[in-house]
Amino acid sequence: MRKPIIAGNWKMNKTAEEAKALIKYLIPLVSDADNVDVIVCPPFVNLAAAAEVLSGSNIKLGAQNMHFEKSGAYTGEVSADMLLAYGVKYVILGHSERRQYFGETDEGVNKKVKVALQAGLVPIVCVGETLEERESGITSEIVCKQTKLALLGLSAEEVKGVVLAYEPIWAIGTGKTATADDANDTIGAIRNAVKEVFGDDAAQSIRIQYGGSMKPANASELMAKPEIDGGLIGGAALKAEDFSKIVKF
Ligand code: PEP
Repeated sequence: MRKPIIAGNWKMNKTAEEAKALIKYLIPLVSDADNVDVIVCPPFVNLAAAAEVLSGSNIKLGAQNMHFEKSGAYTGEVSADMLLAYGVKYVILGHSERRQYFGETDEGVNKKVKVALQAGLVPIVCVGETLEERESGITSEIVCKQTKLALLGLSAEEVKGVVLAYEPIWAIGTGKTATADDANDTIGAIRNAVKEVFGDDAAQSIRIQYGGSMKPANASELMAKPEIDGGLIGGAALKAEDFSKIVKF
């Protein structure tokens, strides 16, 4: 019922020329994947180059962050309108690297989610626990709290248009993956948290991805789980062959 969504988070990788080359290579590899939403999220400065080569393909453009104000004195920041001007459709918000290195808070993520939705962008909102939190047995509490705070003040209808990404921080870029059962259970807990606040319809509609060292070798097992609606892919998104294999899980 929920359409799978596979998004590549390129992080701070690739020049504009390299971005174009990667996308040109990727397009024919995923051109027949019409049962999956396929998204690439290059760095801001490559959005124009990416948009140019993506034109006419079935791959949509995403960004890795945005500011919650429309414009103004926010040096180094980028607004929703600026992203829209490049044809961006999706925006990753609250990635753990942004929370860890750039001081992003649940409150800030919530502001961004609201602004993204108002602008017509689909937010991909990341939640996830640290290794210490996991080992303390509080994974569900942490990710459910992050989810509820990120979605605070939205209507049930708006929530249906959000994508969540459950990304255990200890699994990002480490080669360690949550087991498919663990990921499924935690995503089930997140869906239940959405249901508590926004009702069953919103909970059954919202798409929740898994992210954290997802690769061709583990994608099909993760994607076979009923709660997992897709993947947010870091490292493997930088290789067209690997990313396309995940798209075709
Ligand atoms: C990410 O950063 O969103 C991610 C999941 O990275 P990786 O796939 O490299 O673990």
